[in-house]
Amino acid sequence: MHYALTGNIGSGKSTVAREFERLGIPVYYADAAAKRLMLEDQELRAGLKAAFGEETYLPDGSLNRSWLAEKAFSDDEQLRRLNGLVHPAVHRDAAAWRRANETAPYTLYEAAIVLELGRQADFAGVIVVACPESIRRQRVIQRDHTTAAAFEARAAKQWTDDKKEAAADYLIKNNGYELLLPQVLHLHQQLLTR
Ligand code: ATP
Repeated sequence: MHYALTGNIGSGKSTVAREFERLGIPVYYADAAAKRLMLEDQELRAGLKAAFGEETYLPDGSLNRSWLAEKAFSDDEQLRRLNGLVHPAVHRDAAAWRRANETAPYTLYEAAIVLELGRQADFAGVIVVACPESIRRQRVIQRDHTTAAAFEARAAKQWTDDKKEAAADYLIKNNGYELLLPQVLHLHQQLLTR
């Protein structure tokens, strides 16, 4: 069984994912995979260069992140183009990763955007990590040394907390560590017996 582990920016997805990993559950981190694939996947590299120009990569082969961000985040059409290249590459890679982990009791796919893409049907269930926006904002500003405006810009591309929580098959409320661990253990038991 393969479950999505999602939640809005700063909700604690990665923190929760690491707890599942400590229980021996393999986790696919979609954001990290996308970054890796933009470097390693030759088909994706070629597609990005064709769409955004040779300047997408620096002479040393590394990704010209600021160039790409400027291009892709300037308008929605460009962002759709970027996602249209990156998402299929991640899906291919995640499918191979799943096959490699098929002996695990279950696996998790950690990503911020799952419900927004209408991908529920790709998973046996969707786990949503929920946390009030004021706490998420504070945690992200502290973690990334960023501003409230940068937080709002990312949050604007995601569903509201209420909508996301309503769409969850399983909910983890991340208001504090001491409350988090029992919920992870409880859900782990539930998923093991499904
Ligand atoms: P993003 O969407 O930006 O990838 P995320 O949902 O993966 O974020 P995390 O990185 O896991 O969220 O958590 C955001 C920040 O809040 C991190 O610095 C993390 O250490 C902290 N954090 C997460 N859960 C808790 C908690 N229960 N108590 C205190 N701090 C927490």
